[in-house]
Amino acid sequence: MQRGSTLAFLLLAAAILVAGTLGWEGAEASPGAPAGADPPHPQILEASRAPRAARIMGQVALTYAPGMSTTDRERDMLQKAALARRLLDVQRLVELRRQTLDLSPPGAEVSWEDLRRRSFPRGEVVGVTLVAPVWVPARAQKLTTYAGFEKKWQTVALAASRPSGYVWHVAKMADINDKARYRPEWLQLEVNSKFAPIAALLLEYIFREGWYDPSRRVPLLVVRGGEDTFAVRLGSGPVAAECLSFPDEDGSSLAATVALCHFNDVAEIYHGHHSKTSNHRLGLGLDLNDFNFKGVGVVDGPPNPISRATRQYNRDAMHKLDARQMPAWVYRAAKWLGMRLPQEWVYFGYHTDWEHVDVGTK
Ligand SMILES: [Zn+2]
Repeated sequence: MQRGSTLAFLLLAAAILVAGTLGWEGAEASPGAPAGADPPHPQILEASRAPRAARIMGQVALTYAPGMSTTDRERDMLQKAALARRLLDVQRLVELRRQTLDLSPPGAEVSWEDLRRRSFPRGEVVGVTLVAPVWVPARAQKLTTYAGFEKKWQTVALAASRPSGYVWHVAKMADINDKARYRPEWLQLEVNSKFAPIAALLLEYIFREGWYDPSRRVPLLVVRGGEDTFAVRLGSGPVAAECLSFPDEDGSSLAATVALCHFNDVAEIYHGHHSKTSNHRLGLGLDLNDFNFKGVGVVDGPPNPISRATRQYNRDAMHKLDARQMPAWVYRAAKWLGMRLPQEWVYFGYHTDWEHVDVGTK
């Protein structure tokens, strides 16, 4: 190769490298609304099998305009939430529960594995995969999850179950709370096609806040949607990961310490089984950052699947301690969409809390 063409080649290679880092990386370079980057919108992977839901998602996609203020973004979200319900032809989201339960065979245990393959009267398939933009911390590692109609998550983790999306694993609290070093990524989860536009709006709103304001980035690492039982495959070997520990199980003290939890397998952190009556079995619920961090010596360690502590309701303070906890504005946005919030539940007489939103039951 001649010297001139070598130089031209190098220049071309450099141009390709620069172009490759624009887009996503453009967001990192300039906090606030980034220039030259295409904002990512949620999609349905099987759009051809649920064309109406995919069309609605396109119609209600959030706006990315230069210099949008918090108020502009809220107004846009409220308008799109109302439009989504109108296009879905529902007043209240619980109507989606009734429409989906109508498809379940009478007498049989309600199961996502069964329902996801069925179709609504207009021909749209029930189970779709939602692809949503999320912020993930540095060193986040992608793990595939598997799903099945099983009583125990271990069966799913060991058997040749079907893949059902993925989660992001981060071991260190320092990475989890280092918002400046987050990067935009994608998450895949299964949901009910009728719920997809609503779920997508919530996830897109959470992502967009971080796009305009890095201090409002929320790392969505594990979002669980439609499923009976799920788990990451067993076989990773021992892992260690950090969470927080508190002075008591039920108080409001924020005196947190970072605890290093040891697990025999990464699947011990990422698994779950939803009760027969859960909206997850219908693809109509979302768990936002669902982990299983209860370990030896860890007291009410968030992110905790279920907590009885009043500190949990101090949403912004908890988010500051561990960014995996949802700040208050996430719940406010969920309410705008018409979702039921954890604080509206009374669970076995306790005030329990876990980061779950859904369409309600009544
Ligand atoms: Zn849930």
